[in-house]
Amino acid sequence: MARTLIQKLNEEDNSIFIKRDDLIPISFGGNKVRKALLFFEDIDRGNYDSVVTYGSSSSNHCRVVANLAASRGLKCFIISPDDCVNKTYNSRLTLMLGAVYITCQVDKVQDTIENTLEQLKTEGYNPNFIPGGGHGNIGTQAYVNCYEEIRSWQNENNIQIDYIFHASGTGTTQAGLVCGKILYSGAEDIIGISIARQNPRGRQVVIDSVEDYLSNTDINISEYVTFIDTYIGGGYGKSNQEIEETINRLWTQYGIPTDETYTAKAFTGMIDYLKIQGIKGKNILFIHTGGTPLFFDYIKKV
Ligand SMILES: *Cc1c(COP(=O)(O)O)cnc(C)c1O
Repeated sequence: MARTLIQKLNEEDNSIFIKRDDLIPISFGGNKVRKALLFFEDIDRGNYDSVVTYGSSSSNHCRVVANLAASRGLKCFIISPDDCVNKTYNSRLTLMLGAVYITCQVDKVQDTIENTLEQLKTEGYNPNFIPGGGHGNIGTQAYVNCYEEIRSWQNENNIQIDYIFHASGTGTTQAGLVCGKILYSGAEDIIGISIARQNPRGRQVVIDSVEDYLSNTDINISEYVTFIDTYIGGGYGKSNQEIEETINRLWTQYGIPTDETYTAKAFTGMIDYLKIQGIKGKNILFIHTGGTPLFFDYIKKV
C-alpha cells in the first residue's frame, strides 16, 4: 500500500497535521481498508471461496470486506445484529457488492458466526473468517505499518510529532500505533479518543491487543496506553452540536469530510483535550481513519 498523505491544517495554538488514511484509494479508504488489505493477503494465499465477518449496517469494515471479496469473486456473508437493519450508505454499498447479511440478536452473534461457518462447510464452501472491525494481530500490524509511515515522514521533513490522536473503537488501530512506538522507541504520546467504550475495559482491550502482538514482553504496556473516554457522549454513533460544528467547519475550511461516529467525535475531543491540558506550540498529528459514507449519512439528515 502506498503511504498516505500528511497535510498541515491551519488551526490555533498548535501545529496540527492530519494523516489522510481516508484517501487510501480503495472503497472510500479508511483504517478498515488498511487492515483488510492485510487480511486479504492471507486469503489470497489460501484456497478460500468465501469470507464471513461481523458488523452493523453502518460498519465501514463490512463495506470494505464486501468490496475486497467481490473484487476477487469471493462470496461474502455478514453477521449483523438485527436491531440495526436500518439502511445506511455503508449497508447499501455492501448490498450492491452482492454481500449477504445474516441478522441475529446481539447476544447470539458468536453462535451465529459459528453456525454460519459450519453450515457453509457443510455446503462445500471453504470460508475464511475475518473478526469484526479487523480486530487481532493482523489488524494491529496494519497500524504498526502506519506508524512506520509516520516515522519516515518525520525524518524526511525534520518534524518531531509530540502527540498522535485518533478515534479509538475496538482499539486495534491504537494497539498498532502503540506497538510501533514501543518497537521503535518513539517519543510521541499516542492518545486514543474513545468513540464508545468506557474505561477500564476500553483501555484494557488496547493493552491486551498490544500484549498479544508483542508476546512475552516485559515492558509495562499500560504506561503507553492513553484511552480517553470522556468524549463518548451518548455512546456509539451518538452525536451532539459540537460534533456537528466540527463536521461543518472541517468541510468548510479544508474540504475534508468527517463523521459523527468516529472522526468528528475524535477531532472534537482532541481540540478540547489540548485546551484542557493547556497544550500549546506542539506538533500534533490527527489520523483521519476514514468513514466517508457516514459523512453522507450525516448530510442526508441536515
Ligand atoms: C472502525 C473505525 C475506527 C476505530 O478503529 P479501531 O481500530 O476499531 O479502534 C475509527 N474510525 C473509523 C472511521 C472507523 O471506521
